Amino acid sequence: MNRIINYLLRFLLGVERASAYCGMIGYTSNPNFFKRYKLVIIPSRFFDADIYGTADSLPRLPLVEIEGVPILFGSARQDEMEGTRIVYADIIASAYFLMTRYEEIQHRDIRDEHGRFPGRESLPFKAGFIHRPVIEEYGQLLRRWLRQAGVEIEEPKPMFRKIWLTHDVDAPFFCRSVRNVLRETFRGGGFVQACKYFAGPLRRDPYYTFPWMLKQDQAVKEVYKDGRCEVVYFLKAGGHGKYDRPHYWLRSPDVHALLELLKSKQVSFGLHTSYHAGEQPSLIASEKETLDHVWNLGPVSMNRHHYLSLREPEDFDKLIRAGITDDFTMGYADVSGFRLGTCRPVKWINPITRQMTSLTLHPLALMDSSLSDPKYMGLDAQEALSYSQALLHTIYLHGGEAVLLWHNTSFSSLAPQRYHRQLYMDLLETILSKK
Ligand SMILES: [Zn+2]
Repeated sequence: MNRIINYLLRFLLGVERASAYCGMIGYTSNPNFFKRYKLVIIPSRFFDADIYGTADSLPRLPLVEIEGVPILFGSARQDEMEGTRIVYADIIASAYFLMTRYEEIQHRDIRDEHGRFPGRESLPFKAGFIHRPVIEEYGQLLRRWLRQAGVEIEEPKPMFRKIWLTHDVDAPFFCRSVRNVLRETFRGGGFVQACKYFAGPLRRDPYYTFPWMLKQDQAVKEVYKDGRCEVVYFLKAGGHGKYDRPHYWLRSPDVHALLELLKSKQVSFGLHTSYHAGEQPSLIASEKETLDHVWNLGPVSMNRHHYLSLREPEDFDKLIRAGITDDFTMGYADVSGFRLGTCRPVKWINPITRQMTSLTLHPLALMDSSLSDPKYMGLDAQEALSYSQALLHTIYLHGGEAVLLWHNTSFSSLAPQRYHRQLYMDLLETILSKK
């Protein structure tokens, strides 16, 4: 546990040379050790052997607040002993709880129809802070307490440490196969229109919005020339369930054309783990193999699950074993915000084994359908813009990563919600304005 506590402290401190400050902070309830430190955080009982993993380990609502910040464990009490400040707000256990998704192993029975833990069931949503990366606020508290104890420590500079413009390719084309023509003939816009899409140039296909997307993203990359902006396309390479349709294959000339276009713009590629592999995580490795060696895009190191249906925390292990180093799945489909309690990338700590791992989790802050789908947030254009801009501004203030996910289909003239083109342009403009 010492390694984890040290990692959490450095993460909370969030500044260069964080390790130099760690020695000034104690995480102990033993008064004999207090005088070694400038600041002591008294551990709650969360990590105790008779509490951890039991129902008693779960925070109780309403949460205690300290200096306006909700804490999951401990109390607002503060003492001073021979020059050492002693706080009872257990921000270490609170951060651990949030960034490991501990509550998902405690609530195995709570999953939606796609096997996902719903955002609306999460503690951050129920406690009303899903839009706040409270781990960053714990960092602010920690640095403030240190300063009050006479330690000089700076605040992280407001900035986007990284901008990830990401796109999951679920359905690259609307009507480019005989199967699509049949579908449109019997259930869609009719045979004539279907044939126009099928036989016409690829760029006229309503879902083929990639040239437009690449142009928008390129404008941000050109301004953030220092490599802080990365464009990632997550591609499917398997899956047989109904939620994995439509399947697209490398041998299709249209897919080939799409790949050539994406490669010519120097985008990065990641694995879009199929819904099927979400159900059977042992399939993840073979899907990655396909992308690496059949599609010849490898080795890919980034992943996002289709439908965000990474069901159980153990599934991260399968990603690691398949050779994935960076995952971008950690957002909620039903509500945009901070699923990990932070807007910075974290090393995944396995809450079952309590081991640090090599996998980096990148918090997914904004997804198109979360904002607009009536099943999810159902926001209108103005509401979606305001909510998203507020999240981006929060990420910027804390020096975090802006991870955006917009699908090519959302920019289509056939999209159920038509505001996404304008919304996406406005959000990229917001990002550019903060350079
Ligand atoms: Zn998908």
